[in-house]
Amino acid sequence: MSKLDALWEYQKADLVTDDFENKAKKSPRRVKLLKLRALIAEMQEQLQKIKESLAAYQENVASFQGEIETQEGRIASYATKLEGMENSESEGAAELMAELRASIDKVRSIEKQLAEMSNSLTGMDRQQKEVRMKAMKARAEYSQLKAAYDEEFKGASEELGRLRAARNALGEKVDAALLQKYKNIKLICSPPMAKPNGDQCGGCHMSLPSVVLTALKEDKGIVECDNCGRILYQP
Ligand SMILES: [Zn+2]
Repeated sequence: MSKLDALWEYQKADLVTDDFENKAKKSPRRVKLLKLRALIAEMQEQLQKIKESLAAYQENVASFQGEIETQEGRIASYATKLEGMENSESEGAAELMAELRASIDKVRSIEKQLAEMSNSLTGMDRQQKEVRMKAMKARAEYSQLKAAYDEEFKGASEELGRLRAARNALGEKVDAALLQKYKNIKLICSPPMAKPNGDQCGGCHMSLPSVVLTALKEDKGIVECDNCGRILYQP
């Protein structure tokens, strides 16, 4: 028995293990969970942005309200001054009237802006409530699904543990350096071993040079495909 026979058996068990692991990773529940998790994170980010916008808006509202108070104070003082004026001071009165009107216009313009902001605030508030509600639903769905998946995962990881143990037991029959070589090749291409198919590599399907074919026939050590680097196995 060539030392590659043991490695070939190891590869069979290794591929079965990988296959099982990949299928477990693609479990619909797991895929759904990952999607939900991403969705929840996205909504949290959205909520944070809304919160920041709301805070900025509220700050603006406060400063506008302050401005209105200032203007109202001015309006009151202009009005008092006007009341105390004689007709002879009509020039000064006209100036005061102009300032009074300017203040009133300013107040109206700020009130208009505040009304617009209030609409935006209502919109943001509604959006915040909607996103919160959706996030809550997604979280509930997530924890429900997570419980089911945890059960599934427990079963799968037990099976995976068995498969790995069986594979590792086969690995112990393989020369350690050879096994390491197999693992190194696997990082680049999998499966790392291939049987020749006629004069072609069974892995990459490229023609094998005659020197490689001869080496294989003579069973002289480890022969690799020059093209893909796989270990060639001729049973
Ligand atoms: Zn090849």
